[in-house]
Amino acid sequence: MKKNLIFVGAPGAGKGTFSAVLTAEKPYCHISTGDLLRDEIKRDTQLGRSAAGLMKAGKLVPDEVVAAMVESRLAQKDCQEGFILDGYPRTVHQAELLDAVLTKLGKELDRVVLFQVPDEVLLQRLTARESCRKCGEIFNKLFKPSKTAGVCDKCGGELFQRPDDSLETAKNRLKVFYEQTLPVIEYYRAKGKLFTVTALEREQIADLIRKELY
Ligand code: ADP
Ligand code: ZN
Repeated sequence: MKKNLIFVGAPGAGKGTFSAVLTAEKPYCHISTGDLLRDEIKRDTQLGRSAAGLMKAGKLVPDEVVAAMVESRLAQKDCQEGFILDGYPRTVHQAELLDAVLTKLGKELDRVVLFQVPDEVLLQRLTARESCRKCGEIFNKLFKPSKTAGVCDKCGGELFQRPDDSLETAKNRLKVFYEQTLPVIEYYRAKGKLFTVTALEREQIADLIRKELY
């Protein structure tokens, strides 16, 4: 089994969705820097307060800040069997910082899975996306609606739209992805680590990933 993974792709490409699919099947620890940052905001920490404005504008949080969060998470016990880094690294500098951390922890990266989705689909998905306040389950008003509007199928919690999923901010996040994260993809392609998934159907994507990794 390929156990140490990075999921890379534009916002809305499905990194979070397929992280959830895989962690339900294998003992990966799931590290989403976006989730870690949103948790800091929720707890109203100093880090959270400094990140909130940047996130709301669709800009990246400074490399050193996210790198430190990832390092402490990767060192924890539950990441020994494998990890999925979801949304990190997003700049070449972050990728270099990650290399150093992995060497320090004696871990090796096995695969970088790239999710490729057309821009029009991404914008539709992002602006129609809803998440559960209680359990984090992700729904989509267009593609995967909850049975009752505004209510989570899984736990009955309240659904909400992320503040950075407005059309304007979503467009900005895409721009940031093309400017700052495309070079990261080339970085891993050159290392021979990249596996690209271009399918759009959920089950087809899951099967392609399983075949490559398990
Ligand atoms: P998405 O992949 O859908 O854009 P995320 O939840 O991964 O959503 O990220 C939300 C926001 O959190 C980003 O727009 C950015 O402001 C911040 N963020 C997340 N990961 C990173 C990272 N690796 N480096 C810098 N900022 C990040
Ligand atoms: Zn829920």
